[in-house]
Amino acid sequence: MSVLASVSGFPRIGRDRELKKVIEAYWKGAARLDDVRETGGSLRSAHWKLQADAGIDLIPSNDFSYYDQMLDTAIMLNVIPQRYRRLAFDNAEDTLFAMARGYQGPQGDVTALPMKKWFTTNYHYLVPEIDSTTQIRLNSTKPFDEFNEAKVQGIDTKPVLIGPYTFLKLARNPQAEELELDQGLVDAVAGVYAEIVSKFASLGAAWLQFDEPYLVLDKEDGDEELFKALYSVILSARNGADGSVRILLNTYFGHIADIYETASLLGFDGIGLDLNEGREENLAAVERFGVPQSTTIFAGVVNGRNIWRNDYATSLGLIDALKTKTGNVAVATASSLLHVPFSTEGETGLKPEVRKHFAFAVEKLGEVADIAALADADDGTRKVSKALAANQALFDGSRVAADKAVAERLNALDDKDFVRQPARAERRKVQHDQLGLPELPTTTIGSFPQTREVRSTRAKLRKGEISQDEYDQFIAGQIDQVIDHQERIGLDVLVHGEFERNDMVEYFGQHLNGYLFTKNAWVQSYGTRCVKPPIVWGDVSRAEPITVRWSKYAQSRTKHVVKGMLTGPVTILNWSWPREDISNELQTQQLALAIRDEVLDLEAAGIKVIQIDEAALREKLPLRRSDWHKKYLDWAVPAFRLVHSGVKPETQIHTHMCYSEFNDIIKDIDDMDADVISFEASRGDLVVLDAIEEANFETEVGPGVYDIHSPRIPSTDELVERIHAILKKADAGRVWINPDCGLKTRGNEETWPSLEHMVEAAKKVRTEL
Ligand code: GLN
Ligand code: ZN
Repeated sequence: MSVLASVSGFPRIGRDRELKKVIEAYWKGAARLDDVRETGGSLRSAHWKLQADAGIDLIPSNDFSYYDQMLDTAIMLNVIPQRYRRLAFDNAEDTLFAMARGYQGPQGDVTALPMKKWFTTNYHYLVPEIDSTTQIRLNSTKPFDEFNEAKVQGIDTKPVLIGPYTFLKLARNPQAEELELDQGLVDAVAGVYAEIVSKFASLGAAWLQFDEPYLVLDKEDGDEELFKALYSVILSARNGADGSVRILLNTYFGHIADIYETASLLGFDGIGLDLNEGREENLAAVERFGVPQSTTIFAGVVNGRNIWRNDYATSLGLIDALKTKTGNVAVATASSLLHVPFSTEGETGLKPEVRKHFAFAVEKLGEVADIAALADADDGTRKVSKALAANQALFDGSRVAADKAVAERLNALDDKDFVRQPARAERRKVQHDQLGLPELPTTTIGSFPQTREVRSTRAKLRKGEISQDEYDQFIAGQIDQVIDHQERIGLDVLVHGEFERNDMVEYFGQHLNGYLFTKNAWVQSYGTRCVKPPIVWGDVSRAEPITVRWSKYAQSRTKHVVKGMLTGPVTILNWSWPREDISNELQTQQLALAIRDEVLDLEAAGIKVIQIDEAALREKLPLRRSDWHKKYLDWAVPAFRLVHSGVKPETQIHTHMCYSEFNDIIKDIDDMDADVISFEASRGDLVVLDAIEEANFETEVGPGVYDIHSPRIPSTDELVERIHAILKKADAGRVWINPDCGLKTRGNEETWPSLEHMVEAAKKVRTEL
């Protein structure tokens, strides 16, 4: 039998983000639900065909979603909290959207489910909520419908499901705590999955893929038993009366060395291993425990999380090594391709000799097929393979020349460059005297709504329809308005609004040497929201001042303090496509020096408060605890310190993080040595504040008081209550009041009333102190 080519999952947003466009139009009332359904159908069909044409044997279905596959899984298992049922929509999609983004209208008023980052990616999933009234049962035909839909087109697909282990580990109770898994719940969930398996067996599916990325995390007591309990039920359902289906246990984003033996003993038909991120450990596990005769190893060699061309020689080396252990190897993507853009095809802005180094989702299909074909071939055939020769030419070391000046600057750094003086407690006094802010100072995270006008004016500049001067005048006008408006509602620390920025990373990249940009390389971040990360092509340095002009202008328009707004080096790297030929550590240091130059220029221009966003720092924390420090924090935290260590004591350094799940690295966050940190805390609980209290956290904190990912407007009373909850856990003298993230994705209609309520709430609570 030849080596199978398998794809774990394909991006669903569409070549031109068709899905985003139609769903957003539907939300605005500009498209019908039928339009949404139709676009969904044609995207699925087009994507299946692309994969079939590329020679993929195992093509995924049910990887499509209107919003998020975890939300779909919750709905499939009937995990729909009462508050959403009570809205009583007459179609499933509106309920789904209400769970995803909250709802405020004639049917009621509910907040959205919490949203969290999907492992170490910039993709966000909705956190399923299970309560005592939840009745687990099969509540959806989506997986079967999509399988049948493809079948009608003549394509036999491999349905993909988020597995029960990952589902149960990520689901939460209504207090946002981990679930206490009782036997009843486990049995019920296993039962539904078993039902799905036998149904697919009857429908004639050859393979079913269970995604279990949670298996790459450290195991706690009971985890292995849970895994076994679930899958012994599920695996025994694969032989139905009308046929049988093979089950692939698919893992990614790391290794499963600690459970590989157990998994292999359970008798899966396939085990998917990530040979990018978990390479050594996964290979060692296979080496040690072997591969059962009836199990195929799906070798995840094509990186689903970066955009560089695969090095075929390396991949073939891995596959050849596996082949010494088993005759059954399939070639696969290391994870779903959801995390890469659609195709390099439209990227005409990149020269061919540059573009040839990249593979997006469509190009990766070709890679999987090429490698599968080469895996089968003997040495002689490989020697004359044109595909292999062309591929190897990409890796001859001539891609980009090193920048000597950057290397010299890095070599010259010493320990002092990573430590800000004086110590935080001392600077705090100086800053408080200087800034003269009230208690519970109010501020925002930086951006204000990027209205259609802002975006279309930027588009006009790009197309040459207006001059740079006209554009600059427009931006100045926006800043004038936003400063004025912030003054009027009584915010304490103002911002300039970030109207000049398309994005918090690309904008910086555009002023850095070493960066490349794409036109259409969008990747889904959450729901309909997509990001377009720039590419680190060579050594990085600052080409010119980046933010100084507009920060200085904004400060000149008001007596209040205006915060300068920068993106930190770790986040810039995490939200760029990093190089694969040098380490992330080195790339981050290069970026740190570039942003350090900007910090010092802002300070010299009279900016007294500078926020350096590290929105994505938590995101790339390695999944295994033993890797946290040595593989990440030991260089990520110093890189942040390098950025701000040169400022004067009176300059207040803020940082911001999306998501508050840093209770277990609280010391490291404090070690970044910022003066203030704001973070998301409005969806979900405030446990991080307990950790902060316990750790004697020195950094002042601004836990977000309302959720900006939802269009709903919080009332003043609700916000007063939220601030009270915060003050129960944190000392008022060290608390800031702010939304949980930047406001650029919101409209002005909800932003200003929300902020007004926030300022009112802060004022009200101040009088009680
Ligand atoms: N300063 C940025 C903004 O307000 C921060 C965005 C973010 O944290 N994702 O848009
Ligand atoms: Zn944020």
